[in-house]
Amino acid sequence: MNYKVVPLSSEIARSVRAEMISPQYRHPASVAVATGYGPCRQCLRKLIVGEDERILFTYNAFAGLSNLPNPSPVFIHKSECRPFDGNGFPPELIDLPLLFEGFAAESELVKREPMSRENFEDQIAEIFGLSGVNYINIRNAEAGCFVARIERN
Ligand SMILES: [Zn+2]
Repeated sequence: MNYKVVPLSSEIARSVRAEMISPQYRHPASVAVATGYGPCRQCLRKLIVGEDERILFTYNAFAGLSNLPNPSPVFIHKSECRPFDGNGFPPELIDLPLLFEGFAAESELVKREPMSRENFEDQIAEIFGLSGVNYINIRNAEAGCFVARIERN
């Protein structure tokens, strides 16, 4: 596999669960039973509607990558979960409406396209082949929220 999908950091997740505030913004986080699929940004699995408790908080996925923050609301499971560390694409994300966004230095957007369920691995390779692209963000195509980052392996 020539890419890896990187979830939200465990350090951030631990901090939110312990303090119930966004570690980056100091805004209060909120807990509720899931009313949507999420997904959880740490294990990259869908939330079970009406069952899973999730924390909602504000996250800047560009920390350390760009001087321009891009805050996004994100969900994680309220209880500790296993960060995604698998090879390839998280299976539970494949049928969600997602966008791929290839970014160059200082979060300059180089390419945005809807993820294709049939050939997303070719798409990832193509975007990484574009000049300047350092990483690809996965975004929800409907809510617009940040989901995870794809890095070269
Ligand atoms: Zn989770």
